[in-house]
Amino acid sequence: MKTYKIAAIPGDGIGTEVVSAGVEVLDALAKRDGGFKFEVDNFDWGGEYYKKHGRMMPDNGREQIRNHDAILFGSAGHPEIPDHITLWGLRLAICQPFDQYANVRPTRILPGIVSPLRKVTNKELDWVIIRENSEGEYAGVGGRVHQGSSLEAATDVAMFTRAGVQRIIRFAFKLAQSRPRKLLTVVTKSNAQRHAMVMWDEIAKEVAAEFPDVTWDKMLVDAMSVRMVMRPESLDTIVATNLHADILSDLAAALAGSLGIAPTANLNPERDFPSMFEPIHGSAFDITGKGVANPVGTFWTAVMMLDHLGERDAASRLMNAVERVTADERYHTPDLGGKARTADVTAAVIEAIQGSNV
Ligand code: ATP
Repeated sequence: MKTYKIAAIPGDGIGTEVVSAGVEVLDALAKRDGGFKFEVDNFDWGGEYYKKHGRMMPDNGREQIRNHDAILFGSAGHPEIPDHITLWGLRLAICQPFDQYANVRPTRILPGIVSPLRKVTNKELDWVIIRENSEGEYAGVGGRVHQGSSLEAATDVAMFTRAGVQRIIRFAFKLAQSRPRKLLTVVTKSNAQRHAMVMWDEIAKEVAAEFPDVTWDKMLVDAMSVRMVMRPESLDTIVATNLHADILSDLAAALAGSLGIAPTANLNPERDFPSMFEPIHGSAFDITGKGVANPVGTFWTAVMMLDHLGERDAASRLMNAVERVTADERYHTPDLGGKARTADVTAAVIEAIQGSNV
């Protein structure tokens, strides 16, 4: 029997609630399948850890998870700690050194979920957004001078490398090629940002020549936000920079019904390092501890993790179970307008897995 070593980092806020629900569901899947099991190591890193130790994770944190098969992450963020510390101290401190340069965010409207866009269903909205996840606007290049004085100045320099842009665009073309519509939209802002964004456009054109069967087009990010709302059916696979895709994928999650549903994978496609899987939502302190966090984003995240591990049947079984549960309004949490609790949704998904003939 195969054993997958999973590093679970629940983090803060509802991260702990949804990750434990995710682990319960993974265990149920493994039992149902019989061919593999999970060995889950829990790491208590995050805001509470920071309050005790002055850092978000131990100095040798990455070494502790370096040899796991995958990382299941909840959320990092704490009301008493500035966001840039929690982000750079944990999530980015893992993503960047582990070269998880491809951030993949599928969005579609699951059965039973109503989009805020009138009449839009899964037929019109079925996208995958690919976010460059290792450089660009979040490269961390910049600084502050004359801090606190009236002369103060600050810079954040967006850093794009040819190799970095090439690899994400190639990844995006490959993913687009693997989907039925073979359709890719490359998003930039090359009218106003006339250096790096123009380089993106040039590289997209070069890489496109390797994929003659993929239809592709270019969009400026501002126009893209309009197209996502007005013509969702015209899109399929989308690739954009770290910042642009960060924003567009929150919009996508909202259009698909709730931030609580959307999953993401931070992939190191070469598999030199473990990849990291997380729901896209944050710590949601407004609902922490109330038992009402929607765990569906984490379950869908687990589907992506199973796919990455090569457990395709288990991945389909879980997705199927999740869709059967979302189709039933009794299992909608308050973010979807329902009254269900995290535990109700989790139990329903486990029951659907146990009764699954997929
Ligand atoms: P961060 O800065 O960590 O991304 P944020 O406050 O900007 O956090 P979220 O924590 O994701 O964003 O929360 C935004 C809103 O969405 C909150 O009102 C929160 O309650 C709601 N929300 C987010 N995730 C879920 C979920 N899984 N279930 C229910 N509601 C959720």
